[in-house]
Amino acid sequence: MRHVSRATECPKCRSKELGLGKHSGYAVMSPVNKMSLGSNIEYVICTNCGYIIESYVQKPEKFKGTIF
Ligand SMILES: [Zn+2]
Repeated sequence: MRHVSRATECPKCRSKELGLGKHSGYAVMSPVNKMSLGSNIEYVICTNCGYIIESYVQKPEKFKGTIF
């Protein structure tokens, strides 16, 4: 899945200078009830004030069926 509408402006300070960060390694998000490697997390970050505007797992399909 690719995202079609990432944020373009920081809701806190109105800066348009955003960056893309990534959580990987031991900080991956894993499905709660599956033996799985989990998925890295991407963040859209304001490079002015540091606010994390959006976060995404890179493989959302891994999390299907994990909540009832
Ligand atoms: Zn900001």
